[in-house]
Amino acid sequence: MISGIDDLTFAGVGFDRADHLRDDQRLLEANWADAKTILLWRGKPLIDLTTNDAVFLRCDHPILSVATAPIFLGLMDGNHIYAHDISSWVPEDLDAEKMMAFLDDSQNHHPGFPTTQLFCELRSIMALLPPLDAELITTAKAMFAWHRSHQFCAACGVQSEMAKSGWQRNCPSCNTPHFPRTDPVVIMLVTHGNSLLLGRAPIWPDQMYSCLAGFVEPGETIEAAVAREVFEETTVKVKKVRYIASQPWAFPSSLMFGCICEAETTDIRIDPQELEDAKWVTKETLVKSIGGKDVGIKPARPGAIASYLMQNWLRDRL
Ligand SMILES: [Zn+2]
Repeated sequence: MISGIDDLTFAGVGFDRADHLRDDQRLLEANWADAKTILLWRGKPLIDLTTNDAVFLRCDHPILSVATAPIFLGLMDGNHIYAHDISSWVPEDLDAEKMMAFLDDSQNHHPGFPTTQLFCELRSIMALLPPLDAELITTAKAMFAWHRSHQFCAACGVQSEMAKSGWQRNCPSCNTPHFPRTDPVVIMLVTHGNSLLLGRAPIWPDQMYSCLAGFVEPGETIEAAVAREVFEETTVKVKKVRYIASQPWAFPSSLMFGCICEAETTDIRIDPQELEDAKWVTKETLVKSIGGKDVGIKPARPGAIASYLMQNWLRDRL
């Protein structure tokens, strides 16, 4: 099954973020009794595995008594939607080592919920979520991560305070406002005729290969970042860089710019700090790999923009 151009996970469905309400405490409080919330624990959303939907709770649910300050996400069918985080909860069967793994497939059950409702690692369920739920969860995951890692004012070092229903932090000492952070990353299909340049990082699961990617640097365009990253990682020179689509990637705070470009050279010399291997992979090999055949490479995970770019390239849609 090949995704359509509109099926990119986390690409959003135009959810109403209602910025005009974020400062309106009186109105938010007046609607609190009818508001709904999604719930996260240590970056994992609470999912109903019978439907693969996010679980929406009432905002007076007793479990939320241990939550940090909620974030107002916006409006859905006229209802106010929030996100709560109960990361302070410690499950009895917590497997800390598993949660640190590159692919954390552990699911965590809180005794206050039915056994079919579990905290799940977002990568493991991202391709199954309804688009609206995916957008709400990825927004909340990125926002809670930002609050955790930006507790102190970058200008003077004093502890800052949450404002605007979670969408800002203000410094009580020097009055500097701080805004949620998004880091731009380029991820690219490097083509040469019938082949793609794919690489693998040392920490990835065995045989997993994917598109090259890297952070955009200050003062740099997306196009220049693509050419620089490909050259730095493999010494391959590219031209004709073209933007295709973007994907918010809350691991923890990236925005992926998916691009396509053409290789001008084909010799590969990898940067061992970045890559364990890189190679040219033909369309035929990629199709076999996606079809589950053992061809020495395993494809990118469904739901990730790398998979989306490759699948659309295979169908000549780019
Ligand atoms: Zn300050």
